[in-house]
Amino acid sequence: MHLTPDEIELWAEGLLGAARTMHLTECSLCLAEAEQERKVLLELVALPRFAPSARFADHVMAQVKIRAPSGEF
Ligand SMILES: [Zn+2]
Repeated sequence: MHLTPDEIELWAEGLLGAARTMHLTECSLCLAEAEQERKVLLELVALPRFAPSARFADHVMAQVKIRAPSGEF
């Protein structure tokens, strides 16, 4: 079972459980999604002028979730 967008977000924040994290070692689709999610998070952190804007982060996360495949490619 693929990771949900919520689970990928948790992984990017280092909060995903070990059992689900294991899926990333065997699924390149979810790994690609997870790496993208982490990249977005790191870019947000790296841009001080965006840091205070929680609304901007929410907007980005919404975009990420919309683009995330629901299971099949
Ligand atoms: Zn997967």
